[in-house]
Amino acid sequence: MTEKHYGGDDGRTKGNLPSTAKKSPKIPPSKDQKNKNTELEKSSMFTKEEIEKLKKAGEITKEVKKYARSFIKKDTPLLEIAEKIEAKIIDLGCLPAFPVNLSINEIAAHATPSFNDTEKAHGLLKVDIGVHIEGFIADTAFSLDLENSEQNKKLIDAAEAALEKATEKINLGVSLNEIGTIIEKTISSYKVIPIQNLSGHSIEIYDLHAGITIPNYSNSSLKTIEPGIYAIEPFTTNGLGIVKDGKPSGIYHLMKEGNVRDNFAREVLQFIKEEYQTLPFCSRWLYKKFGSRALLAIKRIEEAGLLHNYSQLIEKNKGIVAQAEHTVIITEKEKIITT
Ligand code: MN
Ligand code: MN
Repeated sequence: MTEKHYGGDDGRTKGNLPSTAKKSPKIPPSKDQKNKNTELEKSSMFTKEEIEKLKKAGEITKEVKKYARSFIKKDTPLLEIAEKIEAKIIDLGCLPAFPVNLSINEIAAHATPSFNDTEKAHGLLKVDIGVHIEGFIADTAFSLDLENSEQNKKLIDAAEAALEKATEKINLGVSLNEIGTIIEKTISSYKVIPIQNLSGHSIEIYDLHAGITIPNYSNSSLKTIEPGIYAIEPFTTNGLGIVKDGKPSGIYHLMKEGNVRDNFAREVLQFIKEEYQTLPFCSRWLYKKFGSRALLAIKRIEEAGLLHNYSQLIEKNKGIVAQAEHTVIITEKEKIITT
């Protein structure tokens, strides 16, 4: 998934999530973890064990992407694609970090099939996959041209080339401007443009969009990369280069603690807290678990102000959009592209 920001010229503007979202229930480090942090195996801010979890999550996404590429064809139902990918993640011993995003043509991001979806794959399809192990996340995406279109291929090549350059560039001390500049320059060399208000982002444990925004264009940010986990995700388009909010996606995340009056809604809320914590989930998942009454429960929880409902993100001029994404760990000593 990606981070949308409104305006601002330095790419450091916060996303569209209320700041409370960043302070939602966090897992305090266990005593064990604290002890480990002081041991020699510590690699900058991460323990060896934590790096292993991040790497494992990344390895799983590689397998899942290979699998997805093998069966997605034009006219494969989106519902089938999402369910097969999510089932594969679980088969491989992990959990989805968010519902598989399957966004077509001018929909840049944040689309996932509903429980009764009938749409079929076509056009330029972005497949955005998240995997986590105990909150240690890998976030990655690729695009498929299902029309054998030169324009689609160019957009995809531009996004992939920009991602490659940016993952080469990112390192300790490199500024957000340097990363944004190389992304924009690479994309422009394909005679298409980046989407300015979609960005890469830092990742923390159980926190997909952890605060730092990595712009996909030349900007004025002198902020430099520190040890951490980063998702880099260039978006390319033949449109205006800006996305606007579309219809609600049915993808949600828990914004804050709170109560609902309805008994059943309370049960569903408890399930969300335990199962997803602050990671995104979708109505399709809850429908599967609780049946149709889950939909009303979600509505009640949303009315209580506890949920953020992500909007689909649509290219403003209905331009076609391509995306490519990797997750990168930067430590004091090394750079690991996990996905
Ligand atoms: Mn992302
Ligand atoms: Mn993503």
